[in-house]
Amino acid sequence: KPEYAFIGRSNVGKSSLINMLTDKTKLAKTSGKPGKTQLINHFLINKAWFLVDLPGYGWAQVSKEMKEKWDIMTKNYLGQRENLYNVFVLIDSRIPPQKIDIEFLNWLGEYQIPFSIIFTKADKPNNSIIQSNIATFKAELKKGWEELPPTFITSSAKKVGQKEILEYIGQINESV
Ligand code: GDP
Repeated sequence: KPEYAFIGRSNVGKSSLINMLTDKTKLAKTSGKPGKTQLINHFLINKAWFLVDLPGYGWAQVSKEMKEKWDIMTKNYLGQRENLYNVFVLIDSRIPPQKIDIEFLNWLGEYQIPFSIIFTKADKPNNSIIQSNIATFKAELKKGWEELPPTFITSSAKKVGQKEILEYIGQINESV
């Protein structure tokens, strides 16, 4: 079955987004603690596709060993999955572009792993700071990329963006 992976810096809002997408408040546990999802979790959705919850990256206080472990585990997974149709990379719309996010996207590109971007925590999508952060992020990406990947703007708090993402997944599933 097709797999769709979700990944982002810790605290980006991944657990909340997964819960919103699946309508199951207890599927992925939310927590303020960084690095809670440390293993790769698969959830079968509608008997049609697997949602793959990948461990977050970029915890400041984590040891070098942990970082290396993350690197090996995640990159092995991402580089080898035949059924991995898309990686959703979550980006916090409340903060300016972070180097680690750009680096990770560039890494995906180098390995020709298909990805899309989800801007999270956009409770007020018209807010000028949020708009500026998103625009700056896209401009940053354009420096290295000719074409931008599909982007989504979500708020788990306001339940925004669920339909768009699920439709996008449905379209890819149908096209293969
Ligand atoms: P994870 O570490 O990436 O899984 O992030 P979580 O889903 O646990 O969320 C991290 C923090 O951000 C929590 O305090 C959430 O309540 C908050 N958060 C997540 N999504 C949203 C959102 O859409 N809007 C707002 N305002 N806060 C959010």
